[in-house]
Amino acid sequence: MLKKSLIAHPQYGNIEITRNPRARRIILRARPNLLCITLPTFATTKELERALEMYGKKLLEQQDAIQPKTIDASYRIETPQFTFGLQPHNGDKFLIKQNGREHILLYPAATNLHCPRRQAWLRDVIKRYLRGRAKDILPGRLQQLATRHGFRYSSVSLRDSHTRWGSCSSRGSISLSIYLVLLPDELIDYVLLHELCHTVEMNHSERFWALLDKACQCDSRTLRQVLRKHKCDIL
Ligand SMILES: [Zn+2]
Repeated sequence: MLKKSLIAHPQYGNIEITRNPRARRIILRARPNLLCITLPTFATTKELERALEMYGKKLLEQQDAIQPKTIDASYRIETPQFTFGLQPHNGDKFLIKQNGREHILLYPAATNLHCPRRQAWLRDVIKRYLRGRAKDILPGRLQQLATRHGFRYSSVSLRDSHTRWGSCSSRGSISLSIYLVLLPDELIDYVLLHELCHTVEMNHSERFWALLDKACQCDSRTLRQVLRKHKCDIL
């Protein structure tokens, strides 16, 4: 079981601490406005402080470099399946207008988009929008690939995860990140097939990769390399 807690550190700001029994060492990551730290279950507060002393400064520098993009009329999401952008209009409401694969968030022209509260709200709107796209695209595609390759899974759920594209439990429950919809189609398929292969092989053994190569009809480890270069940096 993962145990999460949030602390406000006087020097390093908000820190999210996850205790993970499977973690073998302390893992530190910078996120916009948040440091994420994964600790093995029995790590002490002292060990955490020591890790922060060693890596904290570097993490804050990384954090500066990944400040979220400002969401305004210049913001754009472009994927093979849909596009998303913002446009001012004369109405007094926020509306999402769809035109084929193009989605536009119309906002009242007088709105100040740049205040922090409005930015946080817009981020939330976009996250919900992506969840909608993910719901439209991912479960159907997973079912299609499972049928085509003869895999069986018990359920599929969508998560708002920046760090994991997908996972599969020993009971065959597949969980997918909503941000998968931002990837090119072949990488979406790679992740879906990867999780489907885990319904047969719950590991990353040679047998697993051979199964995945067959499903992807290519050297799937090459796709894994390409996937590693994709970061979810739109929110
Ligand atoms: Zn895997």
